[in-house]
Amino acid sequence: MKINVYTVGGYNEVGKNMTVVELSEDAFIFDCGLYLPPVVELENKEHMDEKLLREIDALPNDLFLDKLGLRSKVKAIAVSHAHLDHVGSLPFLAYRYDAPILATPFTAEVLKSLIRDITDEKAKIRARKNKIISIMPNSSYSINAKKIHEVEFIHVTHSTLQTAIIALHTDEGIIMYANDFKLDNTPTLGKKPNYERLKKLAKQGIKALIVESLYAADERKTPSERIAYDLLEDVMLGTSNENSAIVVTTFSSHIARLNSIVKIANKLGRTPILFGRSLKRYTTAAKKINMLPFDAPTLSFKTEIQRGFKKVAKNKTDYVVICTGHQGEQGSILDRLSKGQFKFKLSKDDHVIFSSRTIPSPINIANRQQLEKRLKEAGVRIFTDVHISGHAGREDLRDFIRMLNPEHIIPAHGELQKRTALAELASELGYSLGYNIHLTENGKLVMIN
Ligand SMILES: [Zn+2]
Repeated sequence: MKINVYTVGGYNEVGKNMTVVELSEDAFIFDCGLYLPPVVELENKEHMDEKLLREIDALPNDLFLDKLGLRSKVKAIAVSHAHLDHVGSLPFLAYRYDAPILATPFTAEVLKSLIRDITDEKAKIRARKNKIISIMPNSSYSINAKKIHEVEFIHVTHSTLQTAIIALHTDEGIIMYANDFKLDNTPTLGKKPNYERLKKLAKQGIKALIVESLYAADERKTPSERIAYDLLEDVMLGTSNENSAIVVTTFSSHIARLNSIVKIANKLGRTPILFGRSLKRYTTAAKKINMLPFDAPTLSFKTEIQRGFKKVAKNKTDYVVICTGHQGEQGSILDRLSKGQFKFKLSKDDHVIFSSRTIPSPINIANRQQLEKRLKEAGVRIFTDVHISGHAGREDLRDFIRMLNPEHIIPAHGELQKRTALAELASELGYSLGYNIHLTENGKLVMIN
């Protein structure tokens, strides 16, 4: 039996991840994400629909699958984690497939909230077509199709909750999808990766490994999230801020990081308050599955945000403001705060801490520059890069590939340069390009024999 791997999206860019694995009678989709830069540029995000998102090239281009007759063969859509570049296209594309969506409970909750946010009623009905099935990390689901297929979700660490490496068990061996992870042995929330299970699967034989390449060129081991806690503590407790407001911005989906910020705010004797819609989305999803580790108000409606800032304005040293806008996104809380649109105004010597890294798309770079310019004009002290990545570095990837010992490697997630770095690493490990290292691009087929 041959296995066909269609590299639909995420092979030319960072974003819109989508891969389809075709076995003799059935096919499976892994991830269905958005390409975010053109979405960020959209003026009116209220009316996003499939047509518009296809026009701006934000969706994985899955139309070629129709011509190959693959659409009807798809028996399940498995989602690795809750980041928008992995899950964000499902509300617009999943309906095209008569297949359930498999995801860990947190990812499933985030997906449901994305669907709830669709404003067009017709599109919303369409988005609700697929059944969403929650799969606990470290468990499997059997798909009863032409054959019975087992889809397994293995716990791994990353920068959001309940991230999974997905293993599709086939007669020919395991197809493993590891698209976004880090190897964090001392995470601040949850357990370290399930190495025992990964090693067991390696013994059974991994036919192909589809693996992220984002930091394959970074010659290091990505430090643990514990180090991010220390960096934050150093900035929040180790600077002179007795008379300053403290504003921290980070990735809304990064519950562990938010937990660290809340903990340090408490150490400071300040009350943490979260501001912003996407923070609300992710904290609500975590709460629904009983995995929100902290108790802090999260304000998302206009009136409650204004009320919240009114309180902060009265005594700014009583609070730590945790808000959206680390990329300088227009309309985010930090963007609006820097423009003086709230009852609370930033002033000289207030602290703004970016617990993030700028994702280097032209729009983000421009937005961040403008934001920082405004903050500096107000005399605000800026602390950037108080952050540790959620992606495996080159030396993590080396250990990972050695541990799994797959027959074939398909570098995923990233433009050619990033994937080439992973291909080079694989060749250092004895693999050969064109034989069992498959450097490809969007819309292509990799045949695994
Ligand atoms: Zn991710």
